[in-house]
Amino acid sequence: MKGSLLVVSGPSGSGKTSLARAVCEELGERAYFSVSTTTREKREGEKEGVDYFFVSKEEFLKDVEDGYFLEWAEVHGNFYGTSKRQINAALEDGKIVFLDIDVQGYEIVKRTYTNVLTGVFVTTKNQKTLIQRLEKRGTETKESIEIRMINAIKEMKKIPEYDFLLINEDFEEAKKYLKSVAVASLIKRSKYNIDEFIQKWKGN
Ligand code: 5GP
Repeated sequence: MKGSLLVVSGPSGSGKTSLARAVCEELGERAYFSVSTTTREKREGEKEGVDYFFVSKEEFLKDVEDGYFLEWAEVHGNFYGTSKRQINAALEDGKIVFLDIDVQGYEIVKRTYTNVLTGVFVTTKNQKTLIQRLEKRGTETKESIEIRMINAIKEMKKIPEYDFLLINEDFEEAKKYLKSVAVASLIKRSKYNIDEFIQKWKGN
């Protein structure tokens, strides 16, 4: 695999999606942002094929059956999945592939793509900030904020499984960190077969 996989996880409202998209944009051709498929309702301002591919539960389950997904999970009562084919093509193409997925998805991807994978957990400096951000977003009901908060605490317990912990206090600073990690992920030692590398290096 020429490229690398960069998983960005973290509680809803941590800013991980905005950060990942901003870094992806700065990296231009070198990066690829994986657009997931979901059964969740489209939020105001979201676009089909840009934010998500929005499908019915039936369509989603059919895709699961057809082996379309690299991983999929139920998050906050909705289904989310990452398509296999696009990811593999982007990796073959040498791109830094951004996956904005939850902790369950990360565990699955980690099993298949161990050598090319880097995990970044993004969160806020405290719970209060997270609640304020979700309220400000204006798209969540009181109940959905409560569900997301219960989930946030569960997700935080998985931080030790990640390579990096990014506290998104200052967006611009967090963006710089994420960009550095993204670029560095391309030269991860584990991406190489070292014996092969040495043979080639010797000119054999
Ligand atoms: P939201 O509904 O706020 O867009 O996303 C809810 C959660 O689902 C976020 O934690 C997000 O990272 C996660 N998510 C989005 N796409 C996928 C996916 O394809 N797979 C998995 N496992 N989680 C996803």
